[in-house]
Amino acid sequence: MTDEQRKERNTHNLTECNPAFRLKVAAILTDMEGHGWRPRIQEGWRSLARQKQLLADGYTKVGWGMHNATTGDGKADSLAADILDDDRPNHESTRFLLMLATSAKAHGCVTGIDWGLAQEDRDTIRSAIASRDFDTKIEVGWDPCHVQIGDISIQEARNGARP
Ligand SMILES: [Zn+2]
Repeated sequence: MTDEQRKERNTHNLTECNPAFRLKVAAILTDMEGHGWRPRIQEGWRSLARQKQLLADGYTKVGWGMHNATTGDGKADSLAADILDDDRPNHESTRFLLMLATSAKAHGCVTGIDWGLAQEDRDTIRSAIASRDFDTKIEVGWDPCHVQIGDISIQEARNGARP
């Protein structure tokens, strides 16, 4: 998509994020753009109906996740955003994914870059992030473009915890 479309999409998706999380995602997008990437929020908030479909199709492992968070009165309050590389959507380089994970960490968030991996592979990713060695050869977990708030578990978020 054009940069105009991409930015419009990002702006719209940010409005459906929890206000404190939104600031973090905006900072991550700015960070990635500063490194020459064209990050696109593929999806921020999502309905429970859509979550159910994604679960059935095997794209997620939870029936309620950070994307489903709402305010007390039921408005979108997402605590997760999927950030793709608009130049290679769904075929992101490990360099993009490692930089995304590093920026996310710097802003108190985590990505799914190491989800489902063996401890050894998780450790490789951890040191690549710590040393900012974005060309490290890594195994990639099952949800590397997914960015969510750190320090709050799904259960806590579901019970109303917010950053
Ligand atoms: Zn996600």
